[in-house]
Order: sequence, then structure tokens, then C-alpha cells
Amino acid sequence: MPATPMIDQWSIRPTWLEIDCQGVVSNYNRAKERVGSGVAVFPVVKADAYGLGAVPISRALKAAGAPGLCVGLVEEGATLRKAGIDGPMVLFAGLTPGSEESILDHDLTPFLYDLVQARSLSRFAQSRQRRVGCYVKVDTGMGRIGFPAPELARAVAVIQALPGLRLLGIVSHLAWGDEEPSATVSAGQISQMQTLLAQPEIERISKAHHSLANSAGILYHSRSHLDWVRPGIMLYGASPAHPRRHAQEEGLVAVVRWLSRIIQVRTVEAGTPLGYGHSHICRKKTIIAQIPVGYGDGYNRLLSNRGAVLIHGKRASVLGRVCMDLTSIDITEIPEARTGSLVTLLGADRTDFIGIEQMAGWMQTIPYEVICNLGKRLARRYL
Ligand SMILES: *Cc1c(COP(=O)(O)O)cnc(C)c1O
Repeated sequence: MPATPMIDQWSIRPTWLEIDCQGVVSNYNRAKERVGSGVAVFPVVKADAYGLGAVPISRALKAAGAPGLCVGLVEEGATLRKAGIDGPMVLFAGLTPGSEESILDHDLTPFLYDLVQARSLSRFAQSRQRRVGCYVKVDTGMGRIGFPAPELARAVAVIQALPGLRLLGIVSHLAWGDEEPSATVSAGQISQMQTLLAQPEIERISKAHHSLANSAGILYHSRSHLDWVRPGIMLYGASPAHPRRHAQEEGLVAVVRWLSRIIQVRTVEAGTPLGYGHSHICRKKTIIAQIPVGYGDGYNRLLSNRGAVLIHGKRASVLGRVCMDLTSIDITEIPEARTGSLVTLLGADRTDFIGIEQMAGWMQTIPYEVICNLGKRLARRYL
């Protein structure tokens, strides 16, 4: 396996992604600037680095000095370890029953959020004569996993007494991934976290390494930075507060281009119905192009009659329903377009640009989902 996977066997089809690892590093440096030198930045590469490719992106981030990484699942951590990525690797929610052995084997650092789980990891580590570093997760308002705040001090005392575990610090998660209008929820979570950390049981943790901030915390709440932060979406070129704020305003660069080529051009007469369900009827004589990409690649069906692509720097609208492997676009106003012309589904073409934020807007979802759904069959080229 080459260190950086290049175009793979699917490259016969002219549809591919270009992922700019140095762009991810530039966004990582932006996170570092925001938190300052005393705070460690552990990039979040869960879900295959939000669909963009955890192995090459993690390599680039480690080469740029990232002190640790965060994954969602044991399997994701195992993949990175097998690719030779070393150093601290934090595991968010993957400590499920039966995963203890793999956590030890791959040297992952889990978030603990209940005592049954902590005891079973402790027993396993002890049987192997190992000590596993771990963080204790507390719920300060997300209402998801974590010890309830009033139970934190007791849980910490129990966990610290368990053999085979080494408690590194306390972690929590912000409920507003967003720059919330009033900022009161996040402010409340931050204050609650500070109160919890000031409890004697917790102050006693030596060399404590506490964390609360995701991208939103990094960008909008400096009091949430604590000892280490966990940026995800900002690394991949979107504002966590989209649609209220945009990547450019946060100083973030786009890291993914999605490209294809026209495979057929046809002229159809006024009144011609197009595609499944005839959801578009041409009002006038129209030149349509087919591009070999569809919802089987993560080009969401919600982009039917809504999305647009760039050809020769000009916008061409999606006509009719996006199919599994094909999408029709209107090139009536782009007479220079031909079979073989380059099509930009995401990224810049001359002076125009379609970003993951804009595509998310067309689909009425968040940029996170746009990139997480980029299909496995798309060839990926790492720059
Ligand atoms: C996904 C995740 C993050 C990163 O969130 P972004 O909004 O993408 O920055 C941080 N912490 C935890 C626990 C997460 O699950």
C-alpha cells in the first residue's frame, strides 16, 4: 500500500475527490492560534475524518505536530494504528461491552461514562498487568452520554481507586455546536464545568488534562478551552455555526473538491420531461449534459431540481431527479461545454465556488452530513 492512496480502481469513471491535506493542516493551525500555546489541540478524525479519509489526514496532522487524535470507534482507532499512526488516541464513545481487549491492544484512551464499564475495563487491564489512561465524561447539558454532574465526584473517587486505570482528566461536550444567539447555554455549561473541576476530588487528579471544546467552543467560547480541545468540522473547512456564519469568516479554507466530467450532451425540445417521475419538464429548447455521479456516491437526492455544479466557471443547475449513477444538468447557457468538460460539484472553478456549506444549504442539512456521506466508491486523491 502506498503511503498516500492515489486514484484507485474506480478511476475509469471520471468522478473523483481531491482532498487537500495541507488545507486541513492550515485549519488545524487556525484552531491552534485560537486557543493559544498552553492548550493542546487533538484533531477529531472520527467517521473516517468526516468522510474525507482518516489515514492520510491523520498522517498530515501528525506530521504538522498534532499531539494526539480523537476517534469515535475502536475500529477507527485500530485502522489508524495499523497504518502506523502512534501517540495518544482518544476514543469518544467506543467503549462498548467486549471492546476492552481491543482498547488495550490498540492503546486507545477511552471516555468513561458509567461505572460498570469502568470496572470491566479495570478488571481486563489488571489481568494484562496494564494501566489504561482514561477520561471521565460528565454531562453538563448535552443530555447524552456522561455521568450526571451531581455524581461526578463520587465516580471519580471510585475510578481512581480502581486498579489498572489511570485517570487523566474530566471531559464534557457542548450542546450548541453553533454560535447560539444568546450564548447562555454554553456559558452555563462552561460555568458548571468550572464548578465541577474545583471540587476537591477532582482537583486532586494529578497533571489533570480537562476538555470541553469542540469547534464551536474553540471559535466562540474562549473560556471553554481548558487544557485540550477537540476540533472536528472546522478542520474540514466549514463553520460549526453555518448558516449564520461561514468558513471564510472563521479563516478556514476549503479542503475538498469533487470533480467529474460530462459523458453526454443532448439538445431536447420544449416540453420534454426529464428523468424519474418526470419531475422537470423543459420549458424551452434545452441543452442537457449527463454527469456520471448520483446518490450512490452521496450526491444527495435532495439536490434534485435544486443543486448546481460549475462548468467553465459557470453555474449549471441540476434538472430532474438525481439518480443513483447519473445526474442531468442544464448547460444551455454554457455552449462551450462538451463531452469531457470538467464538472466541479464541490470546490472552486475560476471565480465561482461551491462549498460544503452551500451544498448543505440546498439539502437543508449541516456541512457535517455532506462530507460524511461522500460515497465509498468515489476515488479519492490526496494532495
Ligand atoms: C464529534 C465530536 C467533536 C468534534 O465536534 P465538531 O463540532 O465537529 O468540532 C468533539 N467532541 C466530541 C465528544 C465529539 O463527539
